[in-house]
Amino acid sequence: MSEPRHGSLRVVGLGPGPAHWLTPEAERTLAAATDIVGYHSYVARLVRGAGQTLHASDNGDELLRAQSALELAATGAHVAVVSGGDPGVFAMAAAVFEAIELGPLAWRALDVRVLPGVTAMLAAAARLGAPLGNDFCALNLSDNLKPWSIIEKRLALAAEADFVIALYNPASRARPEQIERAFALLRRARSASTVVVFARAVGRADEQVRVTTLGDADPGSADMQTLVIIGASTTRALERSDGEHWVYSPRSLRALP
Ligand code: SAH
Repeated sequence: MSEPRHGSLRVVGLGPGPAHWLTPEAERTLAAATDIVGYHSYVARLVRGAGQTLHASDNGDELLRAQSALELAATGAHVAVVSGGDPGVFAMAAAVFEAIELGPLAWRALDVRVLPGVTAMLAAAARLGAPLGNDFCALNLSDNLKPWSIIEKRLALAAEADFVIALYNPASRARPEQIERAFALLRRARSASTVVVFARAVGRADEQVRVTTLGDADPGSADMQTLVIIGASTTRALERSDGEHWVYSPRSLRALP
């Protein structure tokens, strides 16, 4: 049997967890793929279709995973590379293009497309109200691929510029002290009353969202399933009648009462 030569590669975002945060386009693409490649915890969320091969990897090397996906596509497979959230936010899409840049020229003829997903920051923000309603930035706290000194510099400047800051990959067992250092830096730069949110496993059964302040926050409570949001000076926490809070950043920088 001769193999089809017109393979394709789709980099697909699965959203932060629940199936209803998967886009219809991503769902169709996953159903049509011959091969699905991804980190095992993401692949575990999927149901294998007839004739589909799942390539679940427990190797954290995203470049190697991207290369093997491209090799499959080059042989004619219809490959979906999956990431949690959006594939372009601290995830597989950048690894795929890095692999293409380093790889054989033939890979530049491949049919490659990135399909967007709901990134964790947006899902967490929607739970809270509108914390990203004014200027914000996102930082990846993992120093796997960049020196910690760069992370501290970006954090300090973002704090000084009074952005709302979304922190991805805030902590891991391998580096518990870094989130403590990040908070020590933020406490020097921003007032103790700054709104801080720990949004853990948003959209999943074990979701936990806590609203606190920079003064009271326990950075040690952030793990790798947590997205941390540091408010700007204008970000507000509104107490609801049930004692929970909405968090929003007003559109205008005019002071509210
Ligand atoms: N591509 C992903 C991010 C990958 S980095 C996206 O767009 O969301 C992994 C980090 O994302 C985690 O350490 C955590 O900070 C955040 N994250 C992913 N899913 C999450 C969820 N359901 N709830 C809270 N944070 C989440």
